[in-house]
Amino acid sequence: MQNIDDQIEALHIEGLRELVDYYGSYDRQISEVREKYNFHCVNRCGACCMTPSINIEVSTFEMIPMAIEIIHEHKDDLFLKSLDASGIDEIPCVIYQKTSLDGREGYCSRYGSRPLICRLFGGGTRMNKNAQRELILCRLLKKNQYISAESLAMVTQKMPLSSEVSTYVRGLNSDIDPTLYAINVALKKALEYILFKLHWLNPEAPEPGSPPFGTPPGHFPVAA
Ligand code: SF4
Repeated sequence: MQNIDDQIEALHIEGLRELVDYYGSYDRQISEVREKYNFHCVNRCGACCMTPSINIEVSTFEMIPMAIEIIHEHKDDLFLKSLDASGIDEIPCVIYQKTSLDGREGYCSRYGSRPLICRLFGGGTRMNKNAQRELILCRLLKKNQYISAESLAMVTQKMPLSSEVSTYVRGLNSDIDPTLYAINVALKKALEYILFKLHWLNPEAPEPGSPPFGTPPGHFPVAA
């Protein structure tokens, strides 16, 4: 079977290679800053994910790397079934794995392919109403300001500006609907987009329909 990198090339989606590379370099940049200034999220905290998915709005394009990963693992049917239920924008992101009964503890089960907005919490900055740069923090991190004011100022200076990175990511692709959706809805749309694209590139694959809606193993086309 092709590896994910080959599959990304084979899909011929405008800006996808750049998006995947950018996600990787963004993570490297923020983890360097976090390590240097010992600035980390609260251990095992999932507070920012444990919210109705309507509160986390992303574009379909941002979710494409995660959709490819899921299809690569042949878990698309599983996810599409859970994303077919009504009210998916009212439940937390389906990628979030709870490790406590109340869901306050948990982790992102697809951290490497999470969308841009999920990288911005504690890893991005914005301009506040006084035209000053401030770190994007969740309520918990705001409450537990456990690094010195000097370190916080350095972290703020070194973290990317969310408006710039969002503009960069939006500009990578002009084909896919740029509307922002609840993260669960965007994941569903991204899975459907890739499955249709795969069928279009490989007519021998079964007609995407419902259900089952998955592309069988090994049906990623070969890169030209
Ligand atoms: S993709 Fe990961 S980080 Fe983003 S909301 Fe879902 S579980 Fe949380």
